[in-house]
Amino acid sequence: MTVQPTAKPRTAALPRKLSVAVTTAAIPAVMMSSLALAEPAQAAPAPSSSKALFPQLPLQAKKQLTGGLIPASQLAAQVPATVAAESAAPATHRIVPGDTVSSIAARYGLDLNEVLRINNLTPTSIIFAGKELKLTGTASAPAAEAPAKGTYTVEAGDSYYYIAELYEMTLDQLMDMNPGYDIDLLRVGDVLTISNAVPYLTVVNVERQRYVIDVPFEVEYEDDNSMYQGDYDVLSPGQYGKADVTANVTYINGEETDRETVASVLLVDPITELQARGTIPRPSWFPTGSFRWPCYGTLTSYFGNRRAPTKGASTNHGAIDIANSYGTPIYASDGGTVIASGWQGGLGYAVTIDHGNGFQTIYGHNSSLLVKAGDHVYKGQQIARMGSTGISTGNHCHFAVKYYGTYVDPLNYL
Ligand SMILES: [Zn+2]
Repeated sequence: MTVQPTAKPRTAALPRKLSVAVTTAAIPAVMMSSLALAEPAQAAPAPSSSKALFPQLPLQAKKQLTGGLIPASQLAAQVPATVAAESAAPATHRIVPGDTVSSIAARYGLDLNEVLRINNLTPTSIIFAGKELKLTGTASAPAAEAPAKGTYTVEAGDSYYYIAELYEMTLDQLMDMNPGYDIDLLRVGDVLTISNAVPYLTVVNVERQRYVIDVPFEVEYEDDNSMYQGDYDVLSPGQYGKADVTANVTYINGEETDRETVASVLLVDPITELQARGTIPRPSWFPTGSFRWPCYGTLTSYFGNRRAPTKGASTNHGAIDIANSYGTPIYASDGGTVIASGWQGGLGYAVTIDHGNGFQTIYGHNSSLLVKAGDHVYKGQQIARMGSTGISTGNHCHFAVKYYGTYVDPLNYL
């Protein structure tokens, strides 16, 4: 449902739906609320508090926004019975709900920019019901004017992130409200919009909606001493239940800002899921699925094409080289089973670990080896000491990762 702004206060013509309209045309003007009663005898909850209307704004901003706003229902009595003759322009105009600076200027046949100027207003200022708008005369000293309500004037040291946080907005929300501003080029004195009340037309709707939702099911566990800890098996699957929900949904300019459930009726009970839960302690040598660096040191050669550092070394390097001093500990990069430990040609003294999940890791050029084929090793267990055996120009660890038989870049896994 959309409520269009009207030029005159509206206190009747109540739709069945609970609705609150805020008109802020040309200059975000005066809040105008028309509260409808869903049932004649039953009072509808009136979201007339500032919290309900501007739930996303911090307290200070809410105070600013609502400071001068009076619901139309209360204001009707204060509105003069007749408005001044349309043609004759008096010195001032008393603002009533629904007024905008442009509608007032049009009514008295005045230039909009002139009216803005003599009242020290900008097109994004908020005007308030009950205040006087000057129709003739000159502007007072503009320096004394406070920044427009609903805006923020950038100060030295500010950033988009800081301002967004200050007003409890996401960065995207702040940027959406300030198209044309460069996030990297905030200047002192820039005036940013920080509330939804500033756009030229703000419409707040509260709609009562009824719909069916899924209700999540619970999960119960049964211990299973044939499975490892951390492993689960679904014995009987759960099923979502259904609930009939009635909610009051608040939209500001068509965007949902609040959803309050007023009733929820269970139509179909959810069915609890039953899962088996392993209880056998998980062997420490099982792979964790992630790799750690095999040793401390300096990365001296990357994976891929390179100039051979010494005669006989590869030009397409299927590993990374990490250099450090002689004897530096070499650790298993993840848990697994040692499938080779010994002299491996150009790799010198090397260790190969199969991790049982498609991955193997190879550690070359060691000075000595601490494991043998068939050993289980846990992630981080020392398996060798650094050296320069095989085809090598200095003490380093040649660290290779194979995935289903193919060498892959270890840096993608570290
Ligand atoms: Zn190497």
